Amino acid sequence: MATAYNIIDHTYDVVVVGAGGAGLRATFGMAEKGLKTACITKVFPTRSHTVAAQGGISAALGNMGEDDWRYHMYDTVKGSDWLGDQDAIEYMCREAIPAIIELEHYGVPFSRTPEGKIYQRAFGGMTAQYGKTQAYRTCAAADRTGHAILHTLYQQSLKHEAEFFVEYFALDLIMEDGVCKGVLAWNLDDGTLHRFRGQLVVLATGGYGRAYFSATSAHTCTGDGGGMILRAGLPLQDMEFVQFHPTGIYGSGCLITEGVRGEGGYLTNSNGERFMERYAPSAKDLASRDVVSRSMTIEIREGRGVGEHKDHIHLHLEHLPPEIIHQRLPGIAETAKIFAGVDVTKEPIPVLPTVHYNMGGIPTNVHCEVLSPTAENPDQVVPGLMAIGEAACVSVHGANRLGSNSLLDLVVFGRAAAIRAAEIVKPGKAPSVKPDSCDKALERFDRIRNAKGSIKSADLRLEMQRTMQNNCAVFRTGEVLDEGVKKIDAVYAKKGEIAISDRSLVWNSDLVEALELDNLLGQAVATLHSAQNRPESRGAHAREDYPNRDDEGWMKHTVIWVADNGETKIDYRPVHMYTLTDEVEVFPPKARVY
Ligand SMILES: Cc1cc2nc3c(=O)[nH]c(=O)nc-3n(C[C@H](O)[C@H](O)[C@H](O)COP(=O)(O)OP(=O)(O)OC[C@H]3O[C@@H](n4cnc5c(N)ncnc54)[C@H](O)[C@@H]3O)c2cc1C
Repeated sequence: MATAYNIIDHTYDVVVVGAGGAGLRATFGMAEKGLKTACITKVFPTRSHTVAAQGGISAALGNMGEDDWRYHMYDTVKGSDWLGDQDAIEYMCREAIPAIIELEHYGVPFSRTPEGKIYQRAFGGMTAQYGKTQAYRTCAAADRTGHAILHTLYQQSLKHEAEFFVEYFALDLIMEDGVCKGVLAWNLDDGTLHRFRGQLVVLATGGYGRAYFSATSAHTCTGDGGGMILRAGLPLQDMEFVQFHPTGIYGSGCLITEGVRGEGGYLTNSNGERFMERYAPSAKDLASRDVVSRSMTIEIREGRGVGEHKDHIHLHLEHLPPEIIHQRLPGIAETAKIFAGVDVTKEPIPVLPTVHYNMGGIPTNVHCEVLSPTAENPDQVVPGLMAIGEAACVSVHGANRLGSNSLLDLVVFGRAAAIRAAEIVKPGKAPSVKPDSCDKALERFDRIRNAKGSIKSADLRLEMQRTMQNNCAVFRTGEVLDEGVKKIDAVYAKKGEIAISDRSLVWNSDLVEALELDNLLGQAVATLHSAQNRPESRGAHAREDYPNRDDEGWMKHTVIWVADNGETKIDYRPVHMYTLTDEVEVFPPKARVY
């Protein structure tokens, strides 16, 4: 098999897959530490989904009122519904402060307060004094924060000598005896295949939002890293926790940032009522995302939705001074005009909860090292492999992520990965690999490339997306999940029947989409099976038949393996209920009310 394709060899100390916020922060951090670093990306770095992030990045700077990283930690633990690992959350919230200052020094053009400090806005679930008052913690560059950060990080990467392989599609990890030794990639532009050997591979491939029909994420968010993990026989963690953002534009799914509500925007039903006052009396429209999404869904179900079909909700900002909108939310005004035909200074935006973020992903420890839990050691490390960003599950977001904590996760753990790499990688020592190291990956690539079945991958993808949307959404019941598991297993079983019409190796988008679908399918199966298996309500996983959180039985991470034949195996890892230092104490579980 290996002879059928000509393979070009590369040797690096570190190979980073992905050039979003997480991948770029890791890439230049590693290059800065003297490691020979390659960054492989299927899209041009500044086209990664991070560029679309709007609202901001959290850090307890206290520029606009009292703040403390311990308050931030408390909010994140509570937001996670006590499924987040408290050591990792402590690390993220404390490191947030130097991480933002560092971004400022790298050149991120943050919005400013009149006295010249970094501007910070209110965001859902972010409080001061352990829940007593609203915090102003989310640092913003107008409503284009991800754009500003991603471009700055790319410039830093060019400054340090990292090498980029742009429009290279990573196919599979090269694993030998449980050790990761590199990655096989396909150059989309000229059709060549490349074997990258390295002492360390870092997966920074982003989320898998496109497993669902309506998502705020880019079409490239297909969880390719998670797919590679499953094929390597490794598990994914907490896949049942999928975040719905309360305010996707009705119809298109385009995101309207939570920053709109942070700046004073609010939601109403068909009676014109500000219904969040009933569901979250103190935080109201700024309760955490799972709470707001569920409240909106209840309003629609009970007949109080707006529009002809009473199937969505109104988001108002027409009461805000136009200069605030133009200064702080210019992108939103434009998006609402293009995708909803609405002038936000005059009328409300039609919105609906839309898939936005994957809390689950590749399990790692606080050093970003990938874990392969065993009965003896739930924190067993896979040598040579790291994961960061939305692809990973550290877990700092637990069962529900707070808005503006993901951009933070990218830079804090991208940096942590570089620090760890400098400790464990010996520059210049390439791992040896067996001659047949890529055979399995090549065999799969060749099989999909020459697929002669009868189903178009676009049709199978739609079937998967509709199943996820209908059977694994904001509210779940045993019955709906049982049906979903049957349906998604049936969709998965058809993956061998897809048809590829283009056999070429140069810019073959048909083949790219089929490979992406293959990655999505494994994660759709993992998500539905994990959801069916958890009989409680926690964070984004809301079961109508089990409305309460069950800390005694279920305060634990789900880990799931999906074999190539679709068979699943589920196990658990304990939640880390300890801190890294004695500067803060563990926050014990309590009821989560806003
Ligand atoms: C519309 C929107 C707005 C958001 N707003 C905010 C916000 O205001 N604040 C906040 O904290 N969070 C926000 N989020 C969430 C946050 O932006 C994302 O979680 C985060 O940007 C993900 O970054 P990442 O680096 O993990 O991956 P991404 O930015 O998705 O990048 C993935 C990278 O992996 C590469 N890649 C993937 N597969 C392959 C492959 N097979 N081969 C080679 N390369 C590959 C891609 O080319 C890309 O470079 C928002 C998300 C969305 C969708």
